[in-house]
Amino acid sequence: MHKEDQPLIFELTKPGRIGYSLPEMDIPEVDMSEMLPEEYVRVEEADLPEVSELDIMRHYTALSKRNHGVDSGFYPLGSCTMKYNPKINENVARFNGFAHVHPLQDESSVQGAMELMYDLQEHLKEITGMDEVTLQPAAGAHGEWTGLMMIRAYHEANGDTNRTKVIVPDSAHGTNPASATVAGFETVTVKSNEHGLVDLEDLKRVVGDDTAALMLTNPNTLGLFEENILEMAEIIHGAGGKLYYDGANLNAVLSKARPGDMGFDVVHLNLHKTFTGPHGGGGPGSGPVGVKADLIPYLPKPVLVKKDDVFTFDYDRPDSIGRVKPYYGNFGINVRAYTYIRTMGPDGLKAVTEYAVLNANYMMRRLSSAYDLPFDRHCKHEFVLSGKRQKKLGVRTLDIAKRLLDFGYHPPTIYFPLNVEECIMIEPTETESKETLDSFIDAMLQIVREAEENPEIVQEAPHTTVIGRLDETLAARKPVLKYVKQ
Ligand SMILES: *Cc1c(COP(=O)(O)O)cnc(C)c1O
Repeated sequence: MHKEDQPLIFELTKPGRIGYSLPEMDIPEVDMSEMLPEEYVRVEEADLPEVSELDIMRHYTALSKRNHGVDSGFYPLGSCTMKYNPKINENVARFNGFAHVHPLQDESSVQGAMELMYDLQEHLKEITGMDEVTLQPAAGAHGEWTGLMMIRAYHEANGDTNRTKVIVPDSAHGTNPASATVAGFETVTVKSNEHGLVDLEDLKRVVGDDTAALMLTNPNTLGLFEENILEMAEIIHGAGGKLYYDGANLNAVLSKARPGDMGFDVVHLNLHKTFTGPHGGGGPGSGPVGVKADLIPYLPKPVLVKKDDVFTFDYDRPDSIGRVKPYYGNFGINVRAYTYIRTMGPDGLKAVTEYAVLNANYMMRRLSSAYDLPFDRHCKHEFVLSGKRQKKLGVRTLDIAKRLLDFGYHPPTIYFPLNVEECIMIEPTETESKETLDSFIDAMLQIVREAEENPEIVQEAPHTTVIGRLDETLAARKPVLKYVKQ
């Protein structure tokens, strides 16, 4: 359903028109066939669009406006939300001394960059209550895998080779079971109870001397705080397993509670979510991992150490799981996270948590008048609604999400977590104003009225976007990536 509002760049072509000007060539032309194997030499001119400079500028500017981002509108995606992207972070990441260092430079010439990494690790230790942190992993899932590989190395070093299972709640983020599988474990699912929390009886049933770890998010993926976390820690530790914390979204507990104090042995953080790194277009990200003391020997190497105010990379780590990434992590994202933590300070980070939780609860309460609320408790940074009632009117959650596009919003996460029917998962984030929250709520309530009075308008949405509904499978499996002239 491509709306013909804007001709494609090839359709603007006028033979001979160019968008650049270069001086006359004043060096001898080379014969390409002498420099390249024959099959690589082009015989025909490349079929490129021939347009003026202004046409090409307008083309790309128009394309950029078709994107939705945090700088253009509200983006209440649950769980994987890209949160705040302060511009000062971008300025700092572009400082010459940060942007132009090379990872192969001599350590003595990059002491400042190493100090920033070291200090960031110290801050993350303090924030999570862990004993050591590595900045190497490049994403949340990568951090999960790194943490699990350390847990595996730990059990193996203790001669505990039968610990082949990782327990994961049914509300967990999809990367948890995936990482466990890639790390060579078998995943065992533990059920949620009617309150949306881990069912302790079911946990006791699945835990055993083959348990390597429990992977948990707290608050969990339904946005609910696992109240029985200390008891769960006792059950897992009692069986000889380790506790893994998925800290992708820490903005519900920052400066309030620490995974380390809840009994967790390993935690990963997504600096490209909670700590303001942008993650548009899939990256780059940063997923540091924190561990308790007994796992320190297994950290990826090299480990950054400070001695007499000099920073060095220590490669002499015989028990390390090895490198998990070339060089030292996505440094640019780490600079942004460091800048954010330093601009906020501990009080600022506490305010983040308070506003994130307040905004989510405000929105949840107002929307619960029209949508089903499967777990009627205070939420943390996000909450889950169900479109069950609207489904009876013939309007699915997918339709509601598509209709939101017409109001200029990025839709929330839908159909996840899997344990809620017609699930709608919303994270408003801490930085949005009450006015923005209210207009989004108004749009959500208007869609419910439309579903009751005029369901077609919702079922056929979106009406205002360039592209309507895609066949998502086809778009992913057989994307059309090049223009073919008819
Ligand atoms: C985003 C997210 C992840 C995965 O992080 P990536 O950087 O996308 O790999 C894991 N767990 C939770 C709870 C998340 O929200």
